[in-house]
Amino acid sequence: MNSKAKKTEGMAVIFSNLRTVHARIDAAARAVGRDPASVRLLAVSKTLPAAHVRAAFEAGQRAFGENYAQEGAEKAAALAGLGLEWHFIGPLQSNKTQLVADTFDWVHSIDRLKIAERLSTRRDAARPPLQVCLQVNISGETTKHGVAPEKAPALARAVAALPRLHLRGLMCIPEPGEDRVLLRRRFAALRQLRERLTAEGLALDTLSMGMSHDLETAIAEGATIVRVGTAIFGARQKATASTAEN
Ligand SMILES: *Cc1c(COP(=O)(O)O)cnc(C)c1O
Repeated sequence: MNSKAKKTEGMAVIFSNLRTVHARIDAAARAVGRDPASVRLLAVSKTLPAAHVRAAFEAGQRAFGENYAQEGAEKAAALAGLGLEWHFIGPLQSNKTQLVADTFDWVHSIDRLKIAERLSTRRDAARPPLQVCLQVNISGETTKHGVAPEKAPALARAVAALPRLHLRGLMCIPEPGEDRVLLRRRFAALRQLRERLTAEGLALDTLSMGMSHDLETAIAEGATIVRVGTAIFGARQKATASTAEN
């Protein structure tokens, strides 16, 4: 196959994968009596070239998730003008906050006040506020990113008070390998935490949870954003040196 034919075939795969993922989302929502339109699909394009993002755009996808600030900034610049919505979903270091505040519309991975304060200071006042979620360490792994559930309410109140940020909700990444029953319990715990914070007066409308292999379980527990990579784009290339460092 020549490279042009290969490229066309690659785009066709992304088109049909997106259709399949939308069908999964619709079925999962209907199965629990939810409106499928209440679940947004975030296409996770980390490590993939801008051409893949463009193919998904041509299939109607608008929101894209990136884990690495530099890589996301390059893709956003290459595709400026398409009206894409960029979500930062990776671990965030303080030396990347300017780039993230300049590039992204959403940040899902806030787990420390210091990072939120920096994003707040650096967000251009002429732009809409940065939409943010707290990443909660729902599986209780000490080595993982995310705020501990018992510390989430205080962090949520502090972040909600910062200018130029709009706290939208909570995000989690369960430990890989957890079985369905345990996964469901994790997602339920995030939902309950949001309910608790809402009862305390924080208006949170977002639960960012569920990926390629578990989006049905997450939707059953109330996910409003599912973050899907491999089910749309296929297996990822290994992170390069330049993406691994940030
Ligand atoms: C990579 C990634 C995803 C997508 O995972 P898939 O299994 O490829 O769907 C979702 N969320 C985060 C935070 C990720 O890093």
